[in-house]
Amino acid sequence: MTTTIIGFPRLGEFRELKFETEKYFRNEISADDLKAFAKELRQKHWNVIKDAGIDQIPSNDFSFYDNTLDTSVLFNIIPKKVKDLDFDELEEYFALARGYQGEKGDVHALPMKKWFNTNYHYLVPQFEKTTNIQVNTTKIVDEFLEAKELGILTRPVILGPFTLLQLGQYHDGTSSADFATDLLAAYQEVFTKLAAAGAEWIQIDEPGLVLDLTAEDIARFKEFYQTLLANKNGLNVLLQTYFGDIRDIYEEVIALDFDGIGLDFVEGKETLNLITNTPFPEDKKLFAGIVNGKNIWTNNYTSTFDLLAKLPKNVVLSTSCSLLHVPYSVENEVFSDEIKQYFAFAKEKLAELVALDKTDQAAIEKNNRIFKQERITANKALQEKIAQLTDADFVRLPAFDEREALQTDLLKLPNLPTTTIGSFPQTKEVKITRGKFKRGEITQEEYDAFIAKKIDDCIAFQEKIGLDVLVHGEFERNDMVEFFGEALDGYLFSKNGWVQSYGTRGVKPPIIWGDIARSKAITVQWSKYAQSKTEQIVKGMLTGPVTILNWSFPREDISIKDSTYQLALAIQEEVLDLEANGIRIIQIDEAALREKLPLRQTDWYSEYLDWAIPAFRLVHSKVQPETQIHTHMCYSEFEDIIQAIDDMDADVISFEASRSNLALLDALNRNNFQTQVGPGVYDIHSPRIPSVEEIKQTIGKILEKIPTDKVWVNPDCGLKTRGEKETYASLENLVLAAKEVREGLVND
Ligand code: GLN
Ligand code: ZN
Repeated sequence: MTTTIIGFPRLGEFRELKFETEKYFRNEISADDLKAFAKELRQKHWNVIKDAGIDQIPSNDFSFYDNTLDTSVLFNIIPKKVKDLDFDELEEYFALARGYQGEKGDVHALPMKKWFNTNYHYLVPQFEKTTNIQVNTTKIVDEFLEAKELGILTRPVILGPFTLLQLGQYHDGTSSADFATDLLAAYQEVFTKLAAAGAEWIQIDEPGLVLDLTAEDIARFKEFYQTLLANKNGLNVLLQTYFGDIRDIYEEVIALDFDGIGLDFVEGKETLNLITNTPFPEDKKLFAGIVNGKNIWTNNYTSTFDLLAKLPKNVVLSTSCSLLHVPYSVENEVFSDEIKQYFAFAKEKLAELVALDKTDQAAIEKNNRIFKQERITANKALQEKIAQLTDADFVRLPAFDEREALQTDLLKLPNLPTTTIGSFPQTKEVKITRGKFKRGEITQEEYDAFIAKKIDDCIAFQEKIGLDVLVHGEFERNDMVEFFGEALDGYLFSKNGWVQSYGTRGVKPPIIWGDIARSKAITVQWSKYAQSKTEQIVKGMLTGPVTILNWSFPREDISIKDSTYQLALAIQEEVLDLEANGIRIIQIDEAALREKLPLRQTDWYSEYLDWAIPAFRLVHSKVQPETQIHTHMCYSEFEDIIQAIDDMDADVISFEASRSNLALLDALNRNNFQTQVGPGVYDIHSPRIPSVEEIKQTIGKILEKIPTDKVWVNPDCGLKTRGEKETYASLENLVLAAKEVREGLVND
């Protein structure tokens, strides 16, 4: 057998590429400096992979920002507006990635979307009438040659035409069919160039194959690859898939003239069945994704050997997806050795592939030992509690209508009540003070006094401008997941466990290490304090269990459903504690609820929503009827899961609402959505201050679709990333707009 990987993290061991690129953005280094730095980094990474003993090493998995953008640029799929700026290659690339505003003109960044079921984001290819597909850059060949010079014969990676066209957005009445012929010719040209440069293999990534496919999709894929593979120029072609199985197209794929096919045995729950039912052809290599490319846990060799025994002989051992989605190395962590042995980040996963390939006895014995011993002592009481949950635990009583009437009576809020999503600007001062506290430079008392003062001012401001439901401002929180993770038992935090989210941005997901429990109140102190400062209602602010889970590295030894239920019980305790301490409205944010929605629509309910929605209900099912439960989501794309959202059985939901989502309002209306709604009336992602008139118009549009007694008025997300000045001005306008619309209603 041999070993390979699909791709390697590119930001660098300590996010060096991020910092260097940001220096370039700030004009502190030149383009040549940045390019030279990147070249060295690529070298380092190829050598790390080679020294680990991996046989086939990819290239062109490096990117300054995003591989999908690289592919768009490679094929000259560049909006005319950006082309016209007449930049050089790197400037143009970053103008596409980040937008450009300067003496040459003004262009927006390309839209960005979540990459399949990961927290990585890609830049969406834009096809226009003027798009003229041709080979436009030499990056893929250059990087191949760069490695070749080091004596490493790599396998260049490229995103395939099927997925590229599937992800694209089409303008000026164009459609994907208009571009297929030129695109295939351009891929062909890349083949020719790579073959001429001495490449033996090319890896074409087609993750789009793991989605639900229509008959037309299948026909299109076949047509594309019959054309491409008719002329391989002597190259061996690896078709690489990941993030699931290719059940809709497996038979067609193995009948095509690929030399290797990469299948995911980790997330692809049907993959083993597929190759058992229709044997994998003997004349092709099976690139078997057996080491999890997304999670950070040590591979269980015994289970992997069991799996390998069922696979054909012509296997190349690989990861389930690119290692882009895991941090660089456990070496850079300060966990004890006892803990470290359970973790495998990118570098350690290389070693795993090699150990599995070489059946390295010492490594296997060590691995067996790890999996034989008890990693953590399970929380038996908690397990029992979860096992004993009954349907009643997931149902809040009385039913919605009765609660709504009662709350309307008791809370005495005006029509169109105004509120915010929770956080207020996290100014430099807030971050610096938190940093000082964490480093022990100021005492707990000093830090608390600082937070208390921030809350005082925040409450006073909200009272002054006349908001109806107040918040404490979340000044004590770094991040909506990390904050809760740090307060709960069962979490571990890495020091350098960064994963690229988009461009130069990384996230450092906390690790769920053990059973989750809440051993102390988390938010009660500051919520209570804020409430003591005003006669008005202050909302309590929590992050929901599904979001906490989706933004953490989950365990592999128990299901994510079980971990979510553990989180739900912990947050439930917090909810009840807040209620007992006089908090009358509690918001439970589920900003990331949609994130783990399975890629195949057919799996949405059975694999996810059927437990994720109940997990949310479990959190609030035990509150008193008069306590009002809010939730918040950072997007408005839930037309397709509208019933599930209503089934969360919150009393109020706020969400992002831009011009485009009037369609959602229609859908809410059509579906008799019971939950009260706060569609964001202005976009907090921009520093613009919306005028009273604008907000009034937006509220007007909402009232055309939603009954007045169901509508709340709020911004579309938390305000923590905004400056204070624009925030204050925007909120004042929001309150004025709501008041004016209200008066209009009374007079009508
Ligand atoms: N309550 C959180 C805040 O206001 C919600 C953040 C979010 O939705 N991402 O910051
Ligand atoms: Zn949000």
